[in-house]
Amino acid sequence: MNRAKPVSCILLAAVLAFLACDREKGSAQDHPSSTPAAVAPAQMNFPPESGPPPNFDAGRAMQYAQEIVRFGPRPLSSANHKKVEDYISAHLKGDQVEHDVFTVETNIGKFPVHNIVAKFAGTKEGIILISSHYDTNYPLRNTSYVGANDGASSSALLLEIANQLRGKQRDGYGVWLIWDDAEEAMKPDTEVDFMSDSLYGITHLAEKWHSDGTLKKVKAFLLADMIGDADLNIDREGNSTPWLQSVVYEAASRLGYQSHFFGRTLPMDDDHLPFVKRGVPSVDLIDFNYGYNNVFWHSPQDTIDKLSPQSLKIIGQTTLESLRILDKMDPLPPK
Ligand SMILES: [Zn+2]
Repeated sequence: MNRAKPVSCILLAAVLAFLACDREKGSAQDHPSSTPAAVAPAQMNFPPESGPPPNFDAGRAMQYAQEIVRFGPRPLSSANHKKVEDYISAHLKGDQVEHDVFTVETNIGKFPVHNIVAKFAGTKEGIILISSHYDTNYPLRNTSYVGANDGASSSALLLEIANQLRGKQRDGYGVWLIWDDAEEAMKPDTEVDFMSDSLYGITHLAEKWHSDGTLKKVKAFLLADMIGDADLNIDREGNSTPWLQSVVYEAASRLGYQSHFFGRTLPMDDDHLPFVKRGVPSVDLIDFNYGYNNVFWHSPQDTIDKLSPQSLKIIGQTTLESLRILDKMDPLPPK
């Protein structure tokens, strides 16, 4: 993922001066917006709380993250990438799994792409998608970069969510978990525009599901990215659907996790965009402040010691609680 391109300048009313600002991604000078910490669930009626907090085995999720990281860098077409594909598939034995395999033409040649989708049936008409990419950044392939937070943490999260969904009759929407591939750019974004060189896997799925009619059944798209940081502050991502963010905030509040959510607003170019573009309510759960000034992002310092099982638990339980709320919201707000 990348910070979205700058769209405007920020008015610094406090000093009564307009200051041109650099909102390029990765800029050392970050200017969070002044939106309030909490997202008010305006005019939304949430179903009453039901049952104890959702189960989520944070220790097991952390173990998955560790195991994914131990394979080493997993850029497209690498042997490690194949190992991680097999690792994810092995954990989904017995589940209904769709393998979306294709070749993508990038500006540095053709590469194999492999999206893995595990489908858990529900009783209600409609599907909720939960997604995470699992590849690591291609330009960093010859470094020690292993993407512990960026790719591994959210992929591990989904494996543990699968454990919680498996073998139970869902009294609600079907849930499809997506381990998507080729999210990362093939060339450094200083050389090629990120949006023309990334999100290959999820874009393929969105196009395919648009063509075959599946997309009409999709009620919501939840994306997890960089959610393992021990210092967890999920951004209010600016391209996400506000009512779906309110559902997430309500879920987090019910669990006492709300202080980890939506303290600042910033738009991101990430895997949700192909679904946003097609009118699917979408939310990107991302903490794009990984180390001071996001210094660990896309750096060899993105290692397992920066992660916390508690952060995985916060996102895991909040996601499952969000599902529970969505299942009982009838009808869901319009797209
Ligand atoms: Zn990344």
